Amino acid sequence: MRNYVHDCDHCKFVGAAILNIGSSRGERVADLYVCAGDDGFTSYIARLSDEGSDYISGLSDTYIKRRLVRMIPHQLELPL
Ligand SMILES: [Zn+2]
Repeated sequence: MRNYVHDCDHCKFVGAAILNIGSSRGERVADLYVCAGDDGFTSYIARLSDEGSDYISGLSDTYIKRRLVRMIPHQLELPL
């Protein structure tokens, strides 16, 4: 389940997680994406809010994995 707005047609949502992004910002809920861009490079993105520039990204997922506290389980949407 996504927590934030993310406006990229190339991104594939792969799950939500708690990341520890440093002493000043602490633990944050992040939406994780893998982005296969037109340029042939794959990048890994962790969106931290609805704010357009509020994400971290890299060409490997190492940066995000090192900050991973835990994944957030997918929430099932039950029919009522
Ligand atoms: Zn993207």
